[in-house]
Amino acid sequence: MLSTMQEAAPLISQLIEHAALNHADTEIVSRTVEGGLHRYHYRDACRRSKQLANALRHLQVKTGDRVATLAWNGYRHYELYFAVSGMGAIVHTLNPRLFPEQLTWIINHAHDSVLFFDSTFAPLVEKLAPSLPSVKLYVAMTDKAHLPPVKLPNLLCYEDLLEAERDDYVWPRFPDTTPSSLCYTSGTTGDPKGVLYTHRSTIYHCYAAIAPEALNISVTSTVLPVVPMFHVNAWAVPYLASAAGAKLVFPGAALDGASVYDLTEREGVTISLGVPTIWLGLLAHMEKHGLKFSTLKETVVGGAACPASIIEKFLTNYGVETVHAWGMTETSPIGTISRLKAKHASLSKAEQLAIRAKQGRPVFGIELKIIDDAGNPLPRDGKAFGDLMVRGPWVVERYYGEEKSALVDGWFHTGDVATIDPDGYMQITDRSKDVIKSGGEWISSIELENIAVSHPAVAEAAVIGVAHPKWDERPLLLVVLKKDATATKQEILSTYEGKIAKWMLPDDVVFVAELPHTATGKLQKRTLRESWARHYLR
Ligand code: ADP
Repeated sequence: MLSTMQEAAPLISQLIEHAALNHADTEIVSRTVEGGLHRYHYRDACRRSKQLANALRHLQVKTGDRVATLAWNGYRHYELYFAVSGMGAIVHTLNPRLFPEQLTWIINHAHDSVLFFDSTFAPLVEKLAPSLPSVKLYVAMTDKAHLPPVKLPNLLCYEDLLEAERDDYVWPRFPDTTPSSLCYTSGTTGDPKGVLYTHRSTIYHCYAAIAPEALNISVTSTVLPVVPMFHVNAWAVPYLASAAGAKLVFPGAALDGASVYDLTEREGVTISLGVPTIWLGLLAHMEKHGLKFSTLKETVVGGAACPASIIEKFLTNYGVETVHAWGMTETSPIGTISRLKAKHASLSKAEQLAIRAKQGRPVFGIELKIIDDAGNPLPRDGKAFGDLMVRGPWVVERYYGEEKSALVDGWFHTGDVATIDPDGYMQITDRSKDVIKSGGEWISSIELENIAVSHPAVAEAAVIGVAHPKWDERPLLLVVLKKDATATKQEILSTYEGKIAKWMLPDDVVFVAELPHTATGKLQKRTLRESWARHYLR
């Protein structure tokens, strides 16, 4: 039977065309590497993306070629997202916070042929270049006046490239299963692995993630993605904002509390997205200077567990709703979002906070289940916890360059351990390798960390399982105190009273000057476990 419907399959190029046609005069504001703010509109961004696509064509970039970027969140990076994917090539966003050896490994693995970079990264690129045989061209994302003094083979200047081109490029049509962008997981769990998104997975994800139920980005929003464009495509915000016609504000390299606050106020940001450490920095800055927000309505927090204390502070002190979200590079990334249901309106503040602190319900398209060690599904009772499995149209099937499927019976094994409650809310209790196994019982390191950071003197906390002669493993709490703050072990441990069972209490508290982080800002627990392995055996 033939249907009566068109077989239209939207491509990424249509997002920017849509924005340019229907939101021509909506602004895109960027804090630049050169200094100051740059502002233009969707119509200009589309025009320049077409010039860039023409330039790439003249540089012999072909369908399926990998075009790498080493860049902050800014308008030129935005143009690359659309020009590269729009012409049928693949935009490969590199995380500059990785070690040079990891970057070399990733670039060689992806076989990138062109590398676009912000001037900030010129010294890094110069260092990497001799070990990058596949890269034929380097493009500095600036104008001639700001070209960094680097020695690179075949170095081109972004603005010169655009200037030489016409802006009447016609975006090609191709199947929406064509690959569009490539991201590597940061290797918290071994060698980095590439996830190659398609136009289809990106567009499906866009429809789901934009909804009020999800990230809630609309034509009245002013969006500040603090999450980097090299971290799962800034959680897809450049695509979502273009689809919605939202004003976009890019923070460039300035991600500290003062700069984020300044940009939020100056540009009238209504929604902003980032990992918990960003919000800790912002809150500390605001507390210190007695500041308030005038336009911000929502912060979306994900990438690592968001402590309930952040959610509470934003709401109580600043009237800002914090929306907790969970996802992975492998899920494009939006998997779940924690928004209250209508029936929760009558709950007490504390009860509401407990729900908001969960990682949330899956957006439509994403299916979740939890399983035990034998692969049997576990009940959705909010208590049973097991391995979290996910599937859906924007979830990885296999890693880049690998023939073997990454799925188990059609499901992707996330490596997270979670509960799911009868209302569909998922809560991560741990990353499976971070769970503390004490005398056959499991203790959630995330839960212990969240309680520790609710102590007013604590800036950051990590809880790790450390070998123990009697209990196999016991929790050890490592604490970084806020500047000029003091606290004793006993004071920190008293925070746990009445919140958890006694046997879950960390056996020791150690004050440290700082904690190690991965390139995506997460606690590097593997390193910590190695450093403190013998703490309870001495
Ligand atoms: P990696 O850190 O391995 O590079 P990702 O950046 O894709 O990979 O991170 C995905 C992981 O981050 C998830 O599997 C989960 O462990 C963690 N994560 C993401 N969001 C949350 C959240 N809201 N709460 C707890 N953990 C989270």
